[in-house]
Amino acid sequence: MSFELPKLPYEYAALEPHIDARTMEIHHSKHHQAYVTNLNNAIAGTDAEKLSIEEICKNISKYPMPVRNNGGGHFNHSLFWNIMAPSTGGEPEGELLTAINTAFVSFADFKAQFAAAAATRFGSGWAWLLVKDGKLAITSTANQDNPLMDIAEVKGTPIMAIDVWEHAYYLHYQNRRPDYVAAFWNVINWKEVARRYKAAL
Ligand code: MN
Repeated sequence: MSFELPKLPYEYAALEPHIDARTMEIHHSKHHQAYVTNLNNAIAGTDAEKLSIEEICKNISKYPMPVRNNGGGHFNHSLFWNIMAPSTGGEPEGELLTAINTAFVSFADFKAQFAAAAATRFGSGWAWLLVKDGKLAITSTANQDNPLMDIAEVKGTPIMAIDVWEHAYYLHYQNRRPDYVAAFWNVINWKEVARRYKAAL
């Protein structure tokens, strides 16, 4: 069994003007595809072929670096595509909003802390909203690491993420990462984040 590039749940242009179609097309069909191909090559003929990507991530310290980089790349991007949707522009509701207010005081404070995590991650990486010991937390990781990994500084179940590699925004935003992060709030699929929050509890 080998991993496959998941279909995007919307068209490449669906997140315009916040994330442009060309960036989405290259990001999904080239970058994510490369992580999938390289992951399959890295685990070919090993027991990891029988495992889910989550199971691989949770024991990532047992694997060589190409599995960490490409397995993380596959998990992270699969989550990223699904927690976005065409111009939702909305805000979290219900239990997720209550949990955000409990953990970060208010939705505005949460946005500020999440944006700061995305802005201050030096070089390539990700910022995360995760469930850790039943509570929400924010962290960031380098490269394609994620909070599922046993090597992560802050471990838990990720329920939302932003990719801050330059390939995620450079065509449209160039060096203006904060502008990309600000635009990201318009395309978050809060229903999917809430579903992942409930599942993580
Ligand atoms: Mn990426």
